[in-house]
Amino acid sequence: MDPIVILGAGLAGLSTAHFLQRPWRLIERSDRVGGLIKTEVIDGCYFDPTGHWLHLRDPEVQELVNTLWLPGELVRIQRKAAVFSRGVFTRFPYQVNTHGLPAEVVAENLVGYVEAIYGEKGRELRERDPRNFEEFILRYMGEGFARNFMVPYNQKLWTVHPRELSAAWVGRFVPRPTLKEVVDGALGSGSDALGYNASFLYPREGGIESLARAMLRHLEGGELSVHTEPVSIDWKAKTVALSDGRSLRYASLVSSISLPGLVQLLAKGGAGVPESVQAAAKQLRATTVTYVCVAARGANRQPWHWIYLPESEFHSYRIGSPSAVFAPLAPPDTATFSVEYSHHGSLSLADAEAKAVEDLLRSQMIHSADDILFTRAREIPNAYVLYDDAYGPAKSEVVRFLDQAGIHTAGRYGQWEYSSMEDAILAGRAVARTLNR
Ligand SMILES: Cc1cc2nc3c(=O)[nH]c(=O)nc-3n(C[C@H](O)[C@H](O)[C@H](O)COP(=O)(O)OP(=O)(O)OC[C@H]3O[C@@H](n4cnc5c(N)ncnc54)[C@H](O)[C@@H]3O)c2cc1C
Repeated sequence: MDPIVILGAGLAGLSTAHFLQRPWRLIERSDRVGGLIKTEVIDGCYFDPTGHWLHLRDPEVQELVNTLWLPGELVRIQRKAAVFSRGVFTRFPYQVNTHGLPAEVVAENLVGYVEAIYGEKGRELRERDPRNFEEFILRYMGEGFARNFMVPYNQKLWTVHPRELSAAWVGRFVPRPTLKEVVDGALGSGSDALGYNASFLYPREGGIESLARAMLRHLEGGELSVHTEPVSIDWKAKTVALSDGRSLRYASLVSSISLPGLVQLLAKGGAGVPESVQAAAKQLRATTVTYVCVAARGANRQPWHWIYLPESEFHSYRIGSPSAVFAPLAPPDTATFSVEYSHHGSLSLADAEAKAVEDLLRSQMIHSADDILFTRAREIPNAYVLYDDAYGPAKSEVVRFLDQAGIHTAGRYGQWEYSSMEDAILAGRAVARTLNR
């Protein structure tokens, strides 16, 4: 019987293989499994492709994770995150922790919130669904929070103004504060436990990659090939031609590689892809994230696991610190950082490294550039999928075609969405269940 061929061995691909009860072949382009959760070790310092913290809400995924590790091999960590703006650190989430900011900023945030939620000014937005992400921010947080944090931060993260994005991705990722939370936050009794990632799990050893390794160890019923990738796919003949010269016949195909990339491979196959679908795939956009792994001599200057940088004087939108989250991720007396830049077009790795040192200094995360031990920039080509105007119609067009061609997708880039590690596992499980039937 032909196997189920799964493209990409990140969490979505691994999860599909895990839950399948039929023979599978997993095809991975890189040298090992893990995708976005591959951990790099530089001079004894562990760097994930920026912070990768595990938060689980599905009982079956929790159970799966518990079977992968022995008790105690996963640690639970309470988030310590901050926003650095107006020269001060305030706890994250910003909306419920404005205490410590200049009084006029706190007042602007509070008044804007009250007007948005209760005032005449917010009435129009309250009476309809937000048409874009900016309207979502104004509707649920008001003008002050929009101006002082939400708009400038998100513009840096997404590289476009929030009015150019829909609110379709927001879901559980952006907390909507209550009046009590906002007022408590302004008075200094706010909570930093709000939001989906208030606490998270992390492997005691090996960085986040050990999640992928553990899943791989538990796989049965199939075969993994690394260092190989499709060069074309013929969806009518149900064959995948691989870069190592092999041709695989499949009973079903599951793709967790990027959606536009999949369409290109199908277009190169004998059965082809309609022009309209190829055009739609070209409209799907994502930002590139360049992150700079930095190690500095001495203990962490700040306690923060990560900080958000909404202001334009910083090039980076967020700086994370693996050593602050979990000390064994760095050698003793060494602080490590992951400084993130989101962009379209090119940002040279050398430029990113120079900017990273500037941003670390200006945000008071390090004392002196002389303490830097190394800087290494890395790139994530499709990091954040853009939910712009083209997104909905273009994705529907592609998905309609894939349905017709009998091809399944899973994962953050397979389904071209904003989602978490757990979502990737859930997507793999969902596809596997469909195929098991
Ligand atoms: C900057 C950043 C920070 C994040 N932080 C968190 C976090 O803190 N917590 C959280 O839960 N989630 C986080 N995420 C999301 C999380 O990384 C993803 O949801 C998840 O890892 C996606 O897994 P995946 O299998 O869908 O995709 P991927 O991990 O991208 O896996 C796809 C796999 O396909 C392979 N591949 C690609 N093209 C081909 C090809 N043509 N042929 C064969 N193989 C191919 C790749 O090498 C890769 O192994 C973050 C994401 C980013 C970008």
